[in-house]
Amino acid sequence: MALTGVQIFKFLPKTNCKKCGFPTCLAFAMALAQNKVELSKCPDVSEEAKKTLGEASAPPIRMFELGTGAKAVKMGGETVLFRHDKKFFNPCALAINIKDSLSDDEIAKKATEVANSEIERVGQKLRVDAISLEYASGNSAQYEKAARLIAEKAPDAAIILNCKDAAAAEAAVKAVAARKPLLYGATPENAEAMANIAKTHAVPLCACAQGLEALSALTEKLQGLGVSDLVLDSGAKAAKEIIEHNTQIRRSALRKNFKPLGFPIINFVLRDDPVYEATAASVAIAKYSSIVVLSSIEKWKNLALFTVRQNLYTDPQVPMQVEQKIYKISEPSANSPLMITTNFSLTYFIVSGEVENSKVPSLLAVMDCEGLSVLTAWAAGKFTAAKISQFIKESGIEGQISHKELIIPGQVAILSGALEDKLEGWKITVGPREANAIPTFLKSKAS
Ligand code: SF4
Repeated sequence: MALTGVQIFKFLPKTNCKKCGFPTCLAFAMALAQNKVELSKCPDVSEEAKKTLGEASAPPIRMFELGTGAKAVKMGGETVLFRHDKKFFNPCALAINIKDSLSDDEIAKKATEVANSEIERVGQKLRVDAISLEYASGNSAQYEKAARLIAEKAPDAAIILNCKDAAAAEAAVKAVAARKPLLYGATPENAEAMANIAKTHAVPLCACAQGLEALSALTEKLQGLGVSDLVLDSGAKAAKEIIEHNTQIRRSALRKNFKPLGFPIINFVLRDDPVYEATAASVAIAKYSSIVVLSSIEKWKNLALFTVRQNLYTDPQVPMQVEQKIYKISEPSANSPLMITTNFSLTYFIVSGEVENSKVPSLLAVMDCEGLSVLTAWAAGKFTAAKISQFIKESGIEGQISHKELIIPGQVAILSGALEDKLEGWKITVGPREANAIPTFLKSKAS
């Protein structure tokens, strides 16, 4: 049960020394009770108090890693219900479901698709993170063989062993234990056997029950059996149910500090209709799922889900920006065109991508506008003729090229006259309004 601020206060040094950043020990205790700060911020707290307050100071949603290596999936550790309150920390993992009853070739093909699913968007690497291996064959030896095969074909993917048969599950866990798989399948009926396997091989365990009451009872039982790293499956399948269950779980964990539901969530959204499946997956990503399991990973679906996930897990308080400098694209020469834009990441990656697509070697001057897009930066007075001319002069680019032509974004055509006044001897050319017109524009200039 969570402690109140006043109860926590009794265990603190009560010196009001302010080392924790709070004006008094009571203020710190109140913040700790609301999970807004960690106990470790008070350097003078006694060992005895640390032990007593351990539960109160533990993260409301347990955090651990699924898988191993650089691409291990961090789960849990979230502290807010709404992204705008702070940020969401650990992006939801996407997984594909593979049945062990498929042929070896089919299993290998699907696992290889996962291994090759990585793309880069706005400077971040995005991928399908995991494979859920479903025990559909009813044959323990076949399941173990399939587990080894996916581990071999997708060496960086996290593995979920979807098997409620304890004997078959144990053989497969043993086969890929080094990859720290998630054992999916503790139910009220097999809880003891599954807890034993999870403890023996030090792997996380998923608690599966129908509804939140049964789920809470099950996680309490599993914790009592000594398993700490748990994932929750409330049995929600329909999008409406996913929203309801996941929201209640997150609220209970954060608002009420209800420990039995303070774990990451997994949702299976398998559907015959791929569009409906993508929609259900988007709902699960938006509403607190830590792992979403899909039936297939077509590229269009991946792109849509990667984008939803990336948008949700971007810190809303920190504009995504790139470094201010002159970027060289496709090995430009002194005659190559010089374009300018702002340092908002999305703007940079879209513009540089289109310049690359044009195959015209170019120079792209990216100016620090505190991560704002072109029009916003202009409206905010950060992308003005005076500031652009100062940046161009200070960049030293004039001494590195054989012309004096600067191409500005079409959206700020209004700056061209003022810029010609400020940048003496320069020709200011107005480029396209939309980035997708850049290849045609550059090609026509080069011809
Ligand atoms: S650092 Fe500890 S002792 Fe000092 S004010 Fe904060 S809670 Fe109190």
